[in-house]
Amino acid sequence: MYPELPDIEPYESQLAFETFPTVGLTKTYCINGQIADSSCTATAYLCGVKANRGTIGLSGAVPRYDWAASLQEAARLSSIAAWALDDGRGAGIVTTTRVTHASPAGAFAKVANRHWENNAEILKDNQDPNLCSDIAQQLVHSYPGNRFKVILGGGRREFLPISILDEEGTAGRRTDGRNLIEEWQADKRARNVTYNYVWNRNQLMNIIEPLPEYLLGLFEGDHLPYHLEADSATEPSLAELTEFAIRSLSRNEKGFFLFVEGGRIDHAHHDNLAELALDETLEMSAAVARAAELLSEDDSLIVVTADHAHVMTLNGYSPRGTDILGPSNDRDEAGVPYMTLSYSNGPGFRPHINGTRADVTTEPNYRRVEWMSHVDVPLESETHGGEDVAVFARGPQHAMFAGLYEQSQLPHLMAYAACIGPGLHACSAAATQLLTPALLAATTYSILLKIYILFE
Ligand SMILES: [Zn+2]
Repeated sequence: MYPELPDIEPYESQLAFETFPTVGLTKTYCINGQIADSSCTATAYLCGVKANRGTIGLSGAVPRYDWAASLQEAARLSSIAAWALDDGRGAGIVTTTRVTHASPAGAFAKVANRHWENNAEILKDNQDPNLCSDIAQQLVHSYPGNRFKVILGGGRREFLPISILDEEGTAGRRTDGRNLIEEWQADKRARNVTYNYVWNRNQLMNIIEPLPEYLLGLFEGDHLPYHLEADSATEPSLAELTEFAIRSLSRNEKGFFLFVEGGRIDHAHHDNLAELALDETLEMSAAVARAAELLSEDDSLIVVTADHAHVMTLNGYSPRGTDILGPSNDRDEAGVPYMTLSYSNGPGFRPHINGTRADVTTEPNYRRVEWMSHVDVPLESETHGGEDVAVFARGPQHAMFAGLYEQSQLPHLMAYAACIGPGLHACSAAATQLLTPALLAATTYSILLKIYILFE
């Protein structure tokens, strides 16, 4: 007699990027932090330099909040998006967060505090927005943001004055009276280029050929909703946004750089919402799949990685076939169930009663999407993790992404493959020396993902 086989179908499926031929690992720590935030990591993987926590697009010479230091020319970094533009290629960003949030801002901003997304946030820190411009203003008016062909995500509130309610009733947050959505359009008019601003899925889907040269899509006042909570009729999916961006940027015969972020995976983890985090990861995978369909492996490099890890753990000894979102098949020492997916810290803490853990499986909202898994250490927000994160690569020079290396090496590898930027290039005769990948270290669990696409 053979034992009954578990339902192994879910274990046989792969995320889109798991089919990529090369896997590597990066170390994500910041200059002044064992465990990273997304601003120092975005600076690492988009500008190629490790930075201080909370700073974007600036070298380690700039401490957080030090706007004066941020104006020193030597401290201001250029991103791989700028390297692409400098070479006559296109560039764009797609995210499910506010487009001014730390990770996408790494592609265009130079700012001493990631929270300076609008002028009012700078004033709150007793600094002068006339001396250091906010992230939304940099995106609209400064290079390279003002040359991005596609900007798709959320965050209208950072672009609008407090006196204005946006199309869906969210109030603007700017106290300088400026409407940067109008200013973005005025800038394109002044440059005599075609453009379109959209704020909902219908408008995006109804854009017809020929596509505008420049596209700004801001679909929410704040971040885009979680996919499981969104109305798919009115909210674009990450895959749809990615497809639109690729179609738009592909018109440049010299190629393009595109940054795509599934940014709400991180937010779900911060709230210990494991199911939402996994579902957002599936959305990210769908976006990668769409990109891989649209782009040839022969001429397009796709790199998928994460800003940093989180402190979710996959634990216990449940048999295969057990619901990954359910409890483990065994119990703790007091006989109380525990979840297969739980967290080291975060808001999901339940007080112990007489030294015994709470039985979370009896809670009235157990397993609803807003239900938090349990944690050891009570914190308002779950923290990031310090483990290395995975890198998946497909396309020209993909094998360079194998090994264990610093996160700041990523854009240099991409630039080498695409023959852009200040370093060595795969297509120049002078490039005789490949960067040598190191030994693979222990595997890790990383689930905040980005795609970078370089088309040459
Ligand atoms: Zn985070």
